[in-house]
Amino acid sequence: MENSYDICIIGGGAAGCAAAYIASKSGLKTALIEKNNFLGGLMTGGLVVPVMKTNDENINIEFYTDLVSNLADVGGEIEYFDKNKGWFNPELLKIILDKMLKSKGVDIFFEMEPKKVHANNSRLEFIEFDSNLLSLSIYSKYFVDTTGDAVIFKMLNEKFYEQEKEKQACSLRFTMSGVNLVKLKNFLIKTDSNKEVTNWCEVNGCIHLTTAYTWDDKNWGLKPIFEKALNEGALKPFDTAYFQIFTVAGMPDTIAFNCPRLRNFNEKCPKDYSNAIIEAREAILRLSNFVKKYFEGFENAYISNIAPITGKRETNKIIAKKQYTIDEMLSSKPNEPILCGDYPVDIHSNKKDDSILKNCGKYYLGIDSLISKNYDNLYAAGRNFGGDNKTQAALRTQKTCMSMGEGVSKHIYKILNFIN
Ligand SMILES: Cc1cc2nc3c(=O)[nH]c(=O)nc-3n(C[C@H](O)[C@H](O)[C@H](O)COP(=O)(O)OP(=O)(O)OC[C@H]3O[C@@H](n4cnc5c(N)ncnc54)[C@H](O)[C@@H]3O)c2cc1C
Repeated sequence: MENSYDICIIGGGAAGCAAAYIASKSGLKTALIEKNNFLGGLMTGGLVVPVMKTNDENINIEFYTDLVSNLADVGGEIEYFDKNKGWFNPELLKIILDKMLKSKGVDIFFEMEPKKVHANNSRLEFIEFDSNLLSLSIYSKYFVDTTGDAVIFKMLNEKFYEQEKEKQACSLRFTMSGVNLVKLKNFLIKTDSNKEVTNWCEVNGCIHLTTAYTWDDKNWGLKPIFEKALNEGALKPFDTAYFQIFTVAGMPDTIAFNCPRLRNFNEKCPKDYSNAIIEAREAILRLSNFVKKYFEGFENAYISNIAPITGKRETNKIIAKKQYTIDEMLSSKPNEPILCGDYPVDIHSNKKDDSILKNCGKYYLGIDSLISKNYDNLYAAGRNFGGDNKTQAALRTQKTCMSMGEGVSKHIYKILNFIN
């Protein structure tokens, strides 16, 4: 049957692309469904750069390694001074992801969303997908939900893991171009001496840098500048909740902003959520005027992109065969580890002084955190995996999401080929 696959992956973000690439490379007939007209999810549409660095012990990093090398070939990647090779260019990433997945034979279906899920007892049989123009039914031996929000689990009326009432803050990221990076670098060096927060390097003749400020009570070098802007009415208090900037590979005059945050909204009220997005866009205008006036180097800069995808750090977490806690991950290695990491527990709270960034050491995640509790041929990978809140806060970063996708595909390949 034409629309019959070994593996159907729904959601083409970090996890979904890794899953599709590895599955197809291994020889599985692979379909990838994506609601946008581009791949990458938050990495591209959310303007989320760079990939956070983590200790991977070489577990399921084949996709990441190939991605770094393909992006480097087109000038869409740099290695920062701390040896992090994940400083990517989100626009070139769209092109490279297409190329990598097509080269391995993945059937990609853009602008399609699941409309109806057909299950028989504990097996998913097929899913009807739809766009404004087209519709398609996909039969598959295995389905992997990499939508970030566990959309397929939701359509099956599965319960989600709930622990904390409040989810992590969302952000609406944006970029500014026309920035004089040499001037900005010199300004930041004289303003903030804390190299843990503000640092820079030169790669192939281009300046790369990062800095940050939050309203939490810490000794931030940029604090006097934010306080001045607040006193002069250039910023509103909530604009100062979280501010972080990075340069972007292959964009020599561009800065990517990891802000503003969306204010808390009523999760059950679509209008309130939409209003929070509108207010975040208003904050982008204030933040861009703020850096133009108070930071050296931004004088001629302009807003060049506002992310078309809202930056959701945490939404639905599936209930898996096994729900991992970070403490458990730190204390024992599972039978089938699909990733290794040491990125800290990183909780973004909208409450002042309530955010957490805590190093906890090296951990492993087991495949059972990605297997549906109730459906034999349904898996999840990426930020919607089966962990508690703290575990998700450490493992939602892009490289670990990629390892999850890769791990799921290798696991399914083994089952289909009777390999122990
Ligand atoms: C503001 C913010 C800052 C962050 N900063 C960093 C950082 O600096 N470094 C880092 O490594 N990580 C960072 N992260 C985390 C990281 O970017 C994400 O957790 C990770 O990219 C998630 O990947 P994913 O594949 O699980 O999900 P996503 O990237 O969300 O991908 C899901 C994909 O599924 C598609 N999809 C959703 N619903 C449907 C549907 N119904 N039908 C079809 N397709 C669908 C989406 O369009 C998308 O392409 C940040 C996250 C946020 C929100």
